[in-house]
Amino acid sequence: MFLHIDIDSFFASAERAYDPSLIGIPMAVGSRSNLEIFNTERTHIRLMNENSGAFVAPVFYSDREKDFESYFVDRIHGERKVRGIITSASYEARACGVKTAMPIAQALKHCPQMVVIPSHYKRYHMLSRALHRFILKKIPKVEQYSIDEFFGDLDGWVRPEEAYGFAKTLQHEIMERYKLPVSIGISRAKWIAKLATESAKPYGIFQVNDIDAYIESIPIESFPGIGKGFQRRLKAHYIKTLGEVKRNRSLLYRWKKPGIQLYKRVTGTDKEGIDTRPPRKSIGISRTFDPIYDMQEVRRRMMIMARHIVYMVMAMEANPTIYYLRIGYEAGIRVKKSETHHRLFSESLYKKILDHIYTEIALQHKGVIKLSLSVSGFTSIHPRTLSLLEFDQDRRTHLLTGNLQQLRERFGLDIVKTGSEL
Ligand SMILES: [Mg+2]
Repeated sequence: MFLHIDIDSFFASAERAYDPSLIGIPMAVGSRSNLEIFNTERTHIRLMNENSGAFVAPVFYSDREKDFESYFVDRIHGERKVRGIITSASYEARACGVKTAMPIAQALKHCPQMVVIPSHYKRYHMLSRALHRFILKKIPKVEQYSIDEFFGDLDGWVRPEEAYGFAKTLQHEIMERYKLPVSIGISRAKWIAKLATESAKPYGIFQVNDIDAYIESIPIESFPGIGKGFQRRLKAHYIKTLGEVKRNRSLLYRWKKPGIQLYKRVTGTDKEGIDTRPPRKSIGISRTFDPIYDMQEVRRRMMIMARHIVYMVMAMEANPTIYYLRIGYEAGIRVKKSETHHRLFSESLYKKILDHIYTEIALQHKGVIKLSLSVSGFTSIHPRTLSLLEFDQDRRTHLLTGNLQQLRERFGLDIVKTGSEL
């Protein structure tokens, strides 16, 4: 049997685990997308994630203690403006119409008594990791599917008829230990288990035994993996429910691989196992701005962005080996380059590599409008997988970056800058 474990309104629940006075009241977590990292003008920062999006947390600045007024409220000519969007709302807040991605100002109109907490992504990330480790102790085969979702494969571990009891115990243990409410879906098919979790919420357990009967009248939009594109194609054939998908086998098989895969998932015949590989593939940040012609200024901004990546890499205890830089110029001109270095990561190594790439690909007399930095190719931090030649020296600079990390975690990302940023 497969279990799908999903934390109910994760960020909101995480804040409640941290501050129990938030339990039982309408509350939500909010965040602002516009964060100033260059301390000049306010522009757009986007985090890139080549996975699901759920793993990458905009760690930047967000873990400083901050209150509602200073974080969400702008004063423009004396006028008070509430900025930001809801990222996670408690069920009490949802009951009065608050939804994820709703502007906070609008959500407060629906629910004036709601408490909105600025997001603490690092807190959520740590909690997610701790929960992953805990679930791994209970189930040997676990896939982390997003920051708050896990699949577990019970085959050879728990007998099918005992799956429900096992899930119940697990749910209680997670509540006891982490103060987090999870819902659990159970099925012999992986994606049906995920679907079942929606029927289990909030704080429930739902087991699907008769897959055909269960899917019959579920709308296609509810199924994981039926995105906008598939919805349009299915609706063009008047297919609105999963039961109707099941009865249109030949149609879906005509759509080749994606159609066949979807058909098998919907009907629970996919035989897909779980993927226990570590999920992260890349960490990145990109930023757009008005054209900059001064190459020194571009370099300075690039190094500030690099510091943010260093912070995330160190927080995640990852060691990247592939380093990317992409530069967007005016008139749609783009240059990019990546380099691979099997070395122990450190801030100075990273900045040296970036500097080198930049010198190679930068165009003169053209205005830079976008910078994108990312790192990938994560390996374990182990001498055997990294270059032995430079290992001793790298270890020293890596330790130094570790010390910087501790300072930044305590005092904020701005506490230590290096010469290249000044
Ligand atoms: Mg969830």
